[in-house]
Amino acid sequence: MLAAIGHTPLIRLRAASEATGCDIYGKAEFMNPGGSVKDRAALAIIADAEARGVLAPGGIVVEGTAGNTGIGLTLVGNARGYRTVIVMPETQSQEKIDFLRMIGAELELVPAKPYRDQGNYVHVSRRRAEELGGVWANQFDNLANREGHRQTTAREIWAQTGGRVDAFTCACGTGGTLAGVSLGLAELAAAEGRPAPRIVLADPEGSGLAGWITSGDLSIEGGSITEGIGQSRVTGNLEGVRIDDAERISDAEALPLIFDLLKDEGISVGGSSGINIASAIRTARKLGPGHTVVTILCDGGARYQSKLFNPEFLHGKSLPVPSWLG
Ligand code: PMP
Repeated sequence: MLAAIGHTPLIRLRAASEATGCDIYGKAEFMNPGGSVKDRAALAIIADAEARGVLAPGGIVVEGTAGNTGIGLTLVGNARGYRTVIVMPETQSQEKIDFLRMIGAELELVPAKPYRDQGNYVHVSRRRAEELGGVWANQFDNLANREGHRQTTAREIWAQTGGRVDAFTCACGTGGTLAGVSLGLAELAAAEGRPAPRIVLADPEGSGLAGWITSGDLSIEGGSITEGIGQSRVTGNLEGVRIDDAERISDAEALPLIFDLLKDEGISVGGSSGINIASAIRTARKLGPGHTVVTILCDGGARYQSKLFNPEFLHGKSLPVPSWLG
């Protein structure tokens, strides 16, 4: 099972490519065993804890997560013989909550609170790890997360594009994906004496990171229904990593892209992938025709059936509805 994590296909996104005259590719992370890009971080964090000698069979892994990291940690934990205690904000999709219960996570749902509040899921998970004598995965500040992406995601993208990647863009939750791919692609390009690909943050409304990159100001505007991304602080994984630009994307811009991708190209993805594709299109337009832009298809649409594919939910938020469900 562990060997099935990663090695995901790189899919050319037809409409996005045609609209820009570029080749826009999405890394199909929804094909990981746990259904998301976070399987990579889960495996890297557990392997690192094992290598450091702090985790052995019978041990406990504890984490605060929007859900996908919890799913990855639980599956890897099951395969390796660990209990997994998952703390999650109760606002996340019912599908992720149900799936975590189904696969045997010991789940604690907490009210959604800002990071500065000690009731925030990240702080609750740190305290639970202390109380239980478990290993706190600490995905936001544990550099094993970005290291996993540096060693796998970046190398796969480089190999799959034959090194012809002009830009990479994706959103940040922990920043592990963006940071690890940025570090990895820069190293691979340097080894061949070529310029590093342009790295662009895709940021949802309600996140502070885009402002931090473009003006050094972490101020937050608006909000998003997108789960798993957006950040109010510079995480340990983002520290010292080169990010060249940022695109702030609204839900109204991102959602039609994932609806069309499903109906016209047969690819079902969740909301953060829509933010990523919108950012890839904007990045391609800035570069001009003939360039190659890579992004991440973080997880699948079925994980958000009750929200992103629920006309009542979407109408209630004044958001676009898939034409075939309207
Ligand atoms: N998309 C989804 C659906 C996620 O669950 C996450 C992680 N929370 C991300 C994107 C962001 O990935 P990362 O933590 O590597 O920044």
